[in-house]
Amino acid sequence: MLIPFDNSYASLPEGFFTRLDPTPVKEPRLLAFNDDLAALLGIEAGDLSEAARVFGGNAVPQGAAPLAQLYAGHQFGSYNPQLGDGRAILLGEVIGIDGVRRDIQLKGSGPTPYSRMGDGRAWLGPVLREYVVSEAMHALGIPTTRALAAVSTGEPIWREEGALPGAVLTRVAASHLRVGTFQVFAHRGETEHLQTLTNYAIQRHYPDADGPMGLLRAVCAAQADLVTSWMAVGFIHGVMNTDNCTISGETIDYGPCAFMDAFHQARVFSSIDQQGRYAYGNQPGILVWNLAQLATSLVQQFEDKEAAVEEATAIIHAVPEQLERLWLEKFAAKVGISSPTKADTGLIEDLLALMQKDGADFTNSFHALCKADARDQFTDREAFDVWAVKWRDRIESQPDPQALMTRSNPAIIPRNHRIEQMIQAALSADMEPFERLNRALARPFEATDPDLHRPPTQEEIVPATFCGT
Ligand code: AMP
Ligand code: MG
Repeated sequence: MLIPFDNSYASLPEGFFTRLDPTPVKEPRLLAFNDDLAALLGIEAGDLSEAARVFGGNAVPQGAAPLAQLYAGHQFGSYNPQLGDGRAILLGEVIGIDGVRRDIQLKGSGPTPYSRMGDGRAWLGPVLREYVVSEAMHALGIPTTRALAAVSTGEPIWREEGALPGAVLTRVAASHLRVGTFQVFAHRGETEHLQTLTNYAIQRHYPDADGPMGLLRAVCAAQADLVTSWMAVGFIHGVMNTDNCTISGETIDYGPCAFMDAFHQARVFSSIDQQGRYAYGNQPGILVWNLAQLATSLVQQFEDKEAAVEEATAIIHAVPEQLERLWLEKFAAKVGISSPTKADTGLIEDLLALMQKDGADFTNSFHALCKADARDQFTDREAFDVWAVKWRDRIESQPDPQALMTRSNPAIIPRNHRIEQMIQAALSADMEPFERLNRALARPFEATDPDLHRPPTQEEIVPATFCGT
């Protein structure tokens, strides 16, 4: 196994992490390997059993500098002063053939000093879920961490459901810096670490950013773009805690997440999100809240705190407008409008209200707009017809609404019931549904496997995804 490591995080001060190796597993077996991603990273996988040992955590590859990262974060609004990689080990970084530096991290690789009450492990279901959904997100053109490998461990792990097969995911990310990485040093008053981290983040992600406020501006822009992209594909992250909010602007942590079937602004999938804090429609507002936590942390490094707070506040106050603009741009494209004005917001909101009233399928309704059969997605067809008259009138003057809609409305998203079926099959050693999903989701704007476009039947509906990850 040749992984061309080029590590930078491991050279940061010792207070940033704890060095330790992954914990070996009983019987590592390679379930999935992402050849395209490996090629991008310049990794030569070599033979399968060696890949299983490396990505299962049994063999530390040459050049790796394994460590668990420290961070903190607000979980469902309350601050937890110490989280950190409780079940993940950063092996190191590589610079891809595209010149981009990326982390290679094992997730589910055993306990660390940050494990608290956890076992440091993951079970097969969430590992395959993250593999499929993160790769689907990438294929949709939305910034995300990616999946390089999935390895089964041959060890049982215990969750509420009982004993389940253990697995390890190899996650690839632009970095694992989060809002919570800044919070931990800010809350502890470790100003020097905070400055070091700020400079590191700027160098790694936003080399043109001017100081901490430039970094804040850049993260706000990247995250606003990300969250509006989620909205446009009906994605509900499920755990938008500050430790799951990246500095890079990539989607991270596919826990109790889901793509919606029937549209509803208040839709929640996570079984632990009783209050609906992270409901679909709340995501932009929560993002602003998370970015305000980043701002609060960044200002701790200024001598003149009053002036810094004023500047940071202005930056955060500008985010809702950015979100509205990006939301409008992305949803306008979905209905064929390439240069939207504020007045188009009403047209789009009316369509969403109709979809919500009828429980119409989000993906299929938008996709059907490209063809002439969107009407069939609604139960109140007269109401849809009234809307469609206004809509056709509006897009008449647009350059090529058809083409714009076709590239803005995916035919296929990873539906929750298909993920669930895929996991059930994998539990009985049948990886074909996993392969099939990956194949179809790799080209989401093409109708390569129409059966996968179908919303769940009443019996197939998976109402919640559990946090028992
Ligand atoms: P998450 O909800 O996945 O973002 O995780 C929140 C925190 O809990 C992170 O610090 C994780 O490392 C930690 N954690 C989650 N699951 C486990 C586990 N099974 N063992 C140890 N730590 C865990
Ligand atoms: Mg997390």
